[in-house]
Amino acid sequence: MTKKLTDKDIPAFAEIKNYINGKFHNPIHNNWIDNYNPSNGEIYGQIPNSSKEDVENAYKAAKTAFPSWSQTTLEERSRILIKISELLEANLQRFAEAESKDNGKPIALAKAIDIPRAASNFRFFGNAITQFASESHESIGQNAINYTLRQPIGVVGCISPWNLPLYLFTWKIAPAIAAGNCVVAKPSEVTPMTAYLLGEICNEAGLPKGVLNIVHGLGGTTGQAIVEHKNIKAISFTGGTTTGAHIARVAAPMFKKLSLELGGKNPNIIFADCDYEDMLDTTVRSSFANQGQICLCGSRIFVEASIYEKFKADFITKVKALKVGHPSEADTNIGALVSKPHLEKVKAYIAIAKEENGTVLCGGNEVTVKGFEKGYYLEPTVIEVPHDECRVNQEEVFGPVVTIMPFNTEDDVLLMANKVKYGLSATLWTNNLKRTMRISNELQAGIVWVNTWMMRDLRTPFGGVKASGVGREGGFEALRFFTEAKNVCIKY
Ligand code: NDP
Repeated sequence: MTKKLTDKDIPAFAEIKNYINGKFHNPIHNNWIDNYNPSNGEIYGQIPNSSKEDVENAYKAAKTAFPSWSQTTLEERSRILIKISELLEANLQRFAEAESKDNGKPIALAKAIDIPRAASNFRFFGNAITQFASESHESIGQNAINYTLRQPIGVVGCISPWNLPLYLFTWKIAPAIAAGNCVVAKPSEVTPMTAYLLGEICNEAGLPKGVLNIVHGLGGTTGQAIVEHKNIKAISFTGGTTTGAHIARVAAPMFKKLSLELGGKNPNIIFADCDYEDMLDTTVRSSFANQGQICLCGSRIFVEASIYEKFKADFITKVKALKVGHPSEADTNIGALVSKPHLEKVKAYIAIAKEENGTVLCGGNEVTVKGFEKGYYLEPTVIEVPHDECRVNQEEVFGPVVTIMPFNTEDDVLLMANKVKYGLSATLWTNNLKRTMRISNELQAGIVWVNTWMMRDLRTPFGGVKASGVGREGGFEALRFFTEAKNVCIKY
């Protein structure tokens, strides 16, 4: 058990509590986990190490709230979700600072992307639920009509990772509550802060108590207790493929509904006929945004042989110009990695790449940021790989590391692009329409971007194939996941 710290131990100590039934609670067993600031490697707060009993209390609050919330009009649900969205926007600076401190991401990124997107999630699903229609089918010649009810499931579990903490947490919670469910949610133990602050916002917006309950803690205990709970009927999970497979095994005997958004090893395929400058700038972003810790990052770059040497030189010049620095500085491009163990994992992959005859074209080293010497900083790293089957090209590194290699033909690159266990997203750069159609059809991925990257329209389905997951989020897909369809057939 980790002892309870206070502001006598740490100046500006940040204490996080569980949010259950609209109130903030210490964990029942008074067991705590230290929370580190990745930009300086120091403890700055603690979070509850929640037990099964804490999860049970959260479940009971959700169960009690469900009958009333599921009967709340769509207009009222929509009004509350949109109010949450407005309050997030009004608290942008506070949330962005908290996200950056917890995760190590540049504060400018949190302000421009993470927090606005969390607000958009509530606004979008607040609107979408009022447009979510169900089907009816007339059985002609049989004097019967079928209509389909879309009913909320009950109490559902939402478990999210550390890379886009509030963005992904709310991407699940917003559709779940919009559809009339009550939620037991767990953010990642390493990035709990903005989920904690969200509780305050929900109260202020008038979300009835018990509709959303947030329990903090370790995946293996708190998360596992949510997945194992026999009355939490659906689990929406975003995280690693190994954890996703484990959750699927635990949930299967209970026949829980599962949405699994898992890892990726996404190809970025560049043809010589693309808009070169646009491709170059976007490729820098798709490689290193959020320190490369986005499941959608294009971590395998394949370049048509005729422009390979030029691309290599231009790309490296741009990557070397990226500033690795403290996340609070406005001109920082690359902040800190999320944790010490994660930094070590990424460094280990760079070492593996060298052992497998990869050439580090730039980066590869830790960076010491003055005044923050214990922070987890790493140079953006580009590795030229001798062939596509080496480990750094096959396994998810999830850090500021990309591989590059040339290709000769469309068939060759398609084969390499699909020759990984993952299938989340792919990016294609070309101005040839026929080639675009051919390759997009053949890529094994849930999302294909052509001449852009990470452009999102919240109405579109989002998710992966193969080891990147099962199910789709986004738009009505998410509302379908968080409801049960019941068909009623009436003979007249
Ligand atoms: P993990 O799988 O380690 O953790 C994800 C969440 O699951 C965390 O809240 C974690 O808690 C929790 N968890 C861990 N073990 C269990 C368990 N046995 N039962 C229930 N919950 C558990 O992933 P990371 O947080 O390391 O996130 C990085 C991964 O997420 C990468 O693989 C990345 O590709 C993927 N990802 C996928 C996305 C997609 O949309 N497809 C988007 C973003 C990321 P704790 O933190 O306490 O361990």
